[in-house]
Amino acid sequence: MAKNTQEAAPGPGTKPVPQAGAFGGTSLAQRGNLYTIASQQLEKAAKAIHLDPAVKAILSQPKNELICNFPVRMDNGELRIFKGYRVQHNNILGPYKGGMRFHEEANLDEMKALAAWMTYKSALHDIPFGGGKGGIKFNPREHSKAELERITRRLTHALGSNIGPEWDIPAPDVGTNAQIMVWMMDTYMNIVGMSDKMSVRRIVTGKSITSGGSHGRETATGRGLVHCITEWAREKRFNLDGSTFIVQGFGNVGSHTARILSKLGATLVATGDYRGYIANPEGLNPHKLAEHVQQTGSVVEYKGGKAIAREEFFNMECDIFVPAALELEIGVPEAKALKCKLVVEGANGPTYPEAEDILLERGIDVLPDIFANSGGVIVSYYEWLQNKRSERWDLEEVESRLERRMKRTYALVRDYATERGLDWRTAAYAIGLERIQRCYTERGIFP
Ligand code: NAD
Repeated sequence: MAKNTQEAAPGPGTKPVPQAGAFGGTSLAQRGNLYTIASQQLEKAAKAIHLDPAVKAILSQPKNELICNFPVRMDNGELRIFKGYRVQHNNILGPYKGGMRFHEEANLDEMKALAAWMTYKSALHDIPFGGGKGGIKFNPREHSKAELERITRRLTHALGSNIGPEWDIPAPDVGTNAQIMVWMMDTYMNIVGMSDKMSVRRIVTGKSITSGGSHGRETATGRGLVHCITEWAREKRFNLDGSTFIVQGFGNVGSHTARILSKLGATLVATGDYRGYIANPEGLNPHKLAEHVQQTGSVVEYKGGKAIAREEFFNMECDIFVPAALELEIGVPEAKALKCKLVVEGANGPTYPEAEDILLERGIDVLPDIFANSGGVIVSYYEWLQNKRSERWDLEEVESRLERRMKRTYALVRDYATERGLDWRTAAYAIGLERIQRCYTERGIFP
């Protein structure tokens, strides 16, 4: 695989100290280096379990980092060059697996962190996948459907044999969806040769049902988060019926979490997205709000809510906070401001380590990303399996399998954390790392 690690990205040590309200509207680069944060988390968990230094050294960097610059013709006839990424972190437990992100601030270190988290997520849930992540640095909202199709197909072609149904399997993430996955699949099917065409549908997951996707995949991450919340509530003897919650980001993860949680009697009192925040102490209807977002692209101007500032959002009285937007949204000031009992990380890497310490000191529970938002990769695994076996499982079967797995992992992380006096993030990492370490110990290092 071609490697390129030369891209300028904020380097370790350049991470600014998170300041009060300083993040709203600032770029991802200004918020700090996501890979530094992922590395700090690895370091902490490795220390807690005395991880073999050789295994830690292997996991400290991705196996492969691919950057490709590729041309696409725009609707007006102009040619534009796009920068695409695919980072393959680790595949000791199975093929690389992870989302494709279309975002104007996508960068290599962000992809490295997100790919590493996929490795630990799959290992924690005992899914036979490794970790990968990729995407394109551009704003998909600025392009027509026809341009998006050409950009997606050209990236897939550029990645070529660097992805594969038993090698590296992309899925949706921020800025991508089932349609993008179907274009990726169709392009890949058309470059592998006729006799292999039908057997490579599982090159991507998160496809539409029509094109071979799984029932329950679109809602899976939100549903998985709600399983974590119901388990937490059961153990804390907390009644979700009549409780309140806020959600940052109202895309796939945020909107489905809100819709599913509201069915349990919890009320969404505030939400927000890249354009702004809204609140209604009497409750926002997440179903109507999702329709509004479908039509307008944002939660702002929703008639059932009043516009509020980002600071007000983080100061809202509520029981549960679900960050489901981008990374590094909860800094020290946000951690001090939050008035909830539980933070459930829908987004990947939403919390700075310093902020997490504050939340825990304040008695706010944190269910970490690699554990809580893994419904997506779990059902992606089910989709991949269905494609591989030419099967179609009904929604009930997918959802009951997801529920079992989320609850099993919940109990595992809870017991591990309690027995060893660890926070849940470190416990979740530790379980995944121990599985990876056992595999390296058995297999050894080639040659
Ligand atoms: P999405 O593109 O569907 O939605 C993202 C949401 O975040 C949108 O509402 C967007 O407006 C909002 N947003 C973007 N920038 C923002 C900002 N600066 N402030 C506030 N809101 C902002 O993406 P998604 O698939 O829902 O992913 C959201 C998060 O969940 C990401 O961190 C992603 O990596 C993570 N995640 C997604 C999945 C999945 O299955 N889609 C699985 C696990 C984790």
